[in-house]
Amino acid sequence: MKRIDLNALNGAFIGGRWTPTADDRRFAVTNPADGSHLADVADCGADEARAAIEAASAAQAGWAARPAADRGAMLRRWRDLLVEHVDTLADILTAENGKPLAEARGEILYGASYLEWFAEEAKRLYGDIIPSASGHNRILVIKQPIGVCAVITPWNFPNAMLMRKAAAALAAGCTLVAKPAEDTPLSALAVAALAAEAGVPDGVFNIVPSSRPAEVGAELTGNDRVRKISFTGSTGVGRKLIEQSAAGIKRLSMELGGNAPFIVFADADLDAAVDGAIAAKFRNAGQTCVCANRIFVERSVMADFSARLSEKVKVLSVAQGHESGAQIGPLINKAALEKVERLVADARGAGAKVKVGGHRHEAGDLFYAPTVLEGVTAEMDVAREEIFGPVAALMAFDSEDEVIALANDTPYGLAAYVYTRDLGRAWRAGEALEYGMVGINEGIISSSAAPFGGIKQSGFGREGSHYGLDDYVSVKYMLMGGLGA
Ligand code: NAP
Repeated sequence: MKRIDLNALNGAFIGGRWTPTADDRRFAVTNPADGSHLADVADCGADEARAAIEAASAAQAGWAARPAADRGAMLRRWRDLLVEHVDTLADILTAENGKPLAEARGEILYGASYLEWFAEEAKRLYGDIIPSASGHNRILVIKQPIGVCAVITPWNFPNAMLMRKAAAALAAGCTLVAKPAEDTPLSALAVAALAAEAGVPDGVFNIVPSSRPAEVGAELTGNDRVRKISFTGSTGVGRKLIEQSAAGIKRLSMELGGNAPFIVFADADLDAAVDGAIAAKFRNAGQTCVCANRIFVERSVMADFSARLSEKVKVLSVAQGHESGAQIGPLINKAALEKVERLVADARGAGAKVKVGGHRHEAGDLFYAPTVLEGVTAEMDVAREEIFGPVAALMAFDSEDEVIALANDTPYGLAAYVYTRDLGRAWRAGEALEYGMVGINEGIISSSAAPFGGIKQSGFGREGSHYGLDDYVSVKYMLMGGLGA
């Protein structure tokens, strides 16, 4: 197996070259599991962001002009390299993010699956011919790349959030400048090294790591050469980027925060619901945008469900991500840990009962014990805010109408989950839930074949599936005349 040299991943990746900042400014990347130092990475500002935009802009026409099959073949080679280097990439991901190695491997393969998917979709960017009213002409519709895209990604899936944007953008013929999260830039730089190896031309894929997100964000949103911003992160930052993009009327995709309801009806297969809740709640230590945030359980089965869930939560293995068998790693940083502590303290103070956990974990400074809270109510902060930690908040309900109303009573609308064996109820709930995605008797819903995205304040735009390319193309209409006698 080839190794990616961590020491080489210290520059920005601009125009196909590893580039220091003009003043050689750097920031440190550390391992959240033990605080150890991993690397010092170029700390880009507006100047480097502008240079990356210029490189992407210079590469744009050539990349768009390539046959779609060529672009697809390159994405396919890139995908193969990710798979070939899965162990190294997972190692880097676990080191900078903290998630267990098995989850990190899964994320790399998940990220690679977007390259595979869009390598194929590139060839299917079909247009349309529409009969016109006159008969002397035809309406032609073609799809063209939007142009230079700027993408901003979060730390919780440092590989996959970048790959699912980059794969679609490059397949459509767009070039790209990415700003990864400050906590996890190494995964992005590592895939840049592999893009170059796959033959992706200089300037098509650029990475500007930074500890100055507002400065880089201002350049990306303010620069007229950037035609689209695609953001995954919190609703607050998304709102700011939308405002900043207004002056330049840029195309936007926003994958924002969530507050997912996970609804268990009394007729559900309770074992399947418990397993689904474990997967939807505790993956990545509860730090995913689609994590079950409010677990609604019909009152008649609450005691049973809570007991079964608690048994499984108690035995989750909390350990550094590189340790074998680890299931729950650290939270990403101190602020994240303190937020979880605050939410649990608030819930306790308002009457919720801690069934399991409810405290920090001795595995390290940033670890929180997997927790089950009973008696949570809709007014508590833990039910209103995105928890982003390993805390299952259980709430009882009595009727279908009541739980749908409770589930929809949030500004967010990303993912929801329903467990029931009643087909009619599954359809009714699936349609009534105001969310972009609904898992029915499934706790893991994301796949490259499916359109991922939210509604309401969880954002707009879709990633993955054949809908995913639409976010990176403009529809052009041409009227072909002179056909009639
Ligand atoms: P965040 O604070 O919004 O950060 C996301 C990205 O935005 C990071 O790269 C961050 O850089 C950057 N950023 C911060 N302030 C900025 C500014 N003023 N201008 C430009 N960029 C800026 O979110 P996070 O805490 O990293 O991630 C967790 C959030 O992401 C949660 O709300 C989660 O639900 C959401 N999320 C959504 C999806 C989805 O598909 N809907 C997927 C994953 C995560 P720094 O790292 O340097 O701060």
